[in-house]
Amino acid sequence: MFTALAAKHGHYCPMSTLGLRIGWAAWRKLQAGSCKLTYLTRTCAIDGIQLVLNHEPLQIDEQGRHLLRVTDAGRCRQIELRPETLNLAASYQQLTGSDEAEKLLKELRYADEDRLLKIEKVEALQ
Ligand SMILES: [Zn+2]
Repeated sequence: MFTALAAKHGHYCPMSTLGLRIGWAAWRKLQAGSCKLTYLTRTCAIDGIQLVLNHEPLQIDEQGRHLLRVTDAGRCRQIELRPETLNLAASYQQLTGSDEAEKLLKELRYADEDRLLKIEKVEALQ
């Protein structure tokens, strides 16, 4: 899957990797049937999310938040990257050695979902 992602996305990067993690989390929560997906910022993560969710239409609502909103039969769930996760992803830019970079990507691929993502139900959309 990570290889397919790099092929689609054009490079390995932390945000597209996290997009896969968000996509997997969303996929497990989805019921059969239609749902509406909205991501609140334009980033590399979009490619990862769409790869997992089979190119389900994904709206972008630019609010500068790394958050996927899944609305399904009147219920809504939000999957957001934790601030620590964003810091980790941002630190990727500072890494000079490819070993270190590879190590960080591995961490983002396999870290516990709870550590990376905050998932909550919301009653109504504002
Ligand atoms: Zn990227």
